Amino acid sequence: MKLCCNCKTEKANEEFYANARTKDGLNTFCKECHKAHGREAKRLKRLDPVFRAAEAAKKKDYRSKPEVKAKNNLYMKRWHSDNFEFQKKYRAKYAEENKEYFTSYRIANKSRILARTRKRQASLMQRTPAWLDNVDYFEIECIYKYCGALRAVGLKYEVDHYYPLQGKEVSGLHVPTNLRVIREFDNRSKANRMEII
Ligand SMILES: [Zn+2]
Repeated sequence: MKLCCNCKTEKANEEFYANARTKDGLNTFCKECHKAHGREAKRLKRLDPVFRAAEAAKKKDYRSKPEVKAKNNLYMKRWHSDNFEFQKKYRAKYAEENKEYFTSYRIANKSRILARTRKRQASLMQRTPAWLDNVDYFEIECIYKYCGALRAVGLKYEVDHYYPLQGKEVSGLHVPTNLRVIREFDNRSKANRMEII
């Protein structure tokens, strides 16, 4: 038996961690107090802005590694496809429950929504190079027509720019080789991010 000098309780020797620097080879704090002490130290450390910044930088660094990025993307992709039905139902339920909010948002932010649409349209224009010839335009038209045909029979497809027009890292062009017809869900979940495969 040994007295813990923190909680002042007498406990069995097994309740103390080993410590080579003490006379009896055991810590002065019991296991429980030792753990609580460690937790408190960690909590205080986390409050330190310098430590927090360093931790955040480390995390960011790790996440920006191509292999980690690829792994995360793959994981998210798999997760989304595994939970597709669930998400669909959840979104529908959420939209139904917050119908009034969405309507009021749309009314209150009409100009904001319009600006976003216009921005996209403008970038579509700016990302259409001058060197496109009639064949290219025909090709683009065919891609949209193909997509339209799929949608006409109820298949939810969209024309996607493989390299997003308003991408953060690279901006793609509105050219036939950058266009592809993909499932609407895949397109929406991709947003303006580049896909790393
Ligand atoms: Zn104790």
